[in-house]
Amino acid sequence: MKILLADIVGKDRKFSYLESLDSLLSDFTLKSPVEAVLLARQKSEESYVLSGTVKASVTVGCDRCGKIIPLPVNREFQYVLHIGQQPERNAEYQCNDEDCEALYLNEAAIECEAIVEEQLLLAIPVQRLCDESCKGLCKECGINLNEKKCQCGEFNSNSPFAILKKLQ
Ligand SMILES: [Zn+2]
Ligand SMILES: [Zn+2]
Repeated sequence: MKILLADIVGKDRKFSYLESLDSLLSDFTLKSPVEAVLLARQKSEESYVLSGTVKASVTVGCDRCGKIIPLPVNREFQYVLHIGQQPERNAEYQCNDEDCEALYLNEAAIECEAIVEEQLLLAIPVQRLCDESCKGLCKECGINLNEKKCQCGEFNSNSPFAILKKLQ
């Protein structure tokens, strides 16, 4: 969806819609379209505020054992939008602080898909574990160590068990 800045001049506008993000390239699965609620208002002649929430139902694989874990996303965000080129650096986004980011628009319109996608990506944690104490998979035999034990460690020459065996 695209919001034309001309449509929000002098008034607050609220948009609720579903964003399917078909082109999303990432290592998690979107179980349903993202629910986006966007609130746009004019701040000054040359700047606008876009705030809102993105809600989504996502699944990710555990970093250690690969188990699929559900991850509900419910993230609030706020951008201050400026029209024109970002001063100095060329990047599209510039972070001022965590809650409020400045976004520079090349045209008098807001591309909502990019913003919803950005917020969804920010909501996914870097470390994804099924459990803090997940033991992961054995590097030797690939067994899920949360479910079963294997003997691999005992034959590994670096393990204390192997050293004990040599001493016996
Ligand atoms: Zn795990
Ligand atoms: Zn093993």
